[in-house]
Amino acid sequence: MNKIGGVWYMKFCPRCGSTNIEWVLPQTWSKWDCKDCGYIGILIIEDGKIADTIREEYQKKHQKIK
Ligand SMILES: [Zn+2]
Repeated sequence: MNKIGGVWYMKFCPRCGSTNIEWVLPQTWSKWDCKDCGYIGILIIEDGKIADTIREEYQKKHQKIK
């Protein structure tokens, strides 16, 4: 983790805001695979504030479905 300008910078899933993500192919770092929601893609979030918002929205949607 790096702290820049008072914000923690990590890798977050753009769909659910999880930090539980890994490269699909580490050699090429072409795509990310989220272990929580199954997201696979090249887009990744590095801003913890944005990730918090995404996670809240994702959990709201999940609760509605249930
Ligand atoms: Zn996810």
